[in-house]
Amino acid sequence: MEDCLFCKIVNKEIPSDNLYEDEEVLAFRDISPQAPSHIVIIPKQHIRSTAEIDGSNQLLAGKIIAAASEIAKKLSLEGYRLVFNCNEIAGQTVFHLHCHLLGGRRFGWPPG
Ligand code: 5GP
Ligand code: ZN
Repeated sequence: MEDCLFCKIVNKEIPSDNLYEDEEVLAFRDISPQAPSHIVIIPKQHIRSTAEIDGSNQLLAGKIIAAASEIAKKLSLEGYRLVFNCNEIAGQTVFHLHCHLLGGRRFGWPPG
């Protein structure tokens, strides 16, 4: 999709530090890390947010989580947090579905 930052990363118009890639999913380091390990996992297909996940594309959500699990093992993370921000009120700033994989420090609950 034109003017989508993460589509530009998928198309290699913007450089990224990739940790995982397959036909449908790409994962790269976040440019502004909020934890010692902060990786963003996206579908290559443009989907605006989790609000657009339905029966037609739900397998992708599983693939994103499987990629997160694989990356966490590769990075030897003791534990980690997965976050999908959906819509501006929840903190979403890039409107291409993505999962944050955060690890390497302790996290509090409830989140702020
Ligand atoms: P959101 O706030 O939408 O849940 O997450 C978007 C994330 O994308 C943010 O954590 C932000 O730091 C990251 N980000 C924004 N621009 C870039 C970029 O050009 N490259 C990379 N690697 N991450 C980016
Ligand atoms: Zn996009």
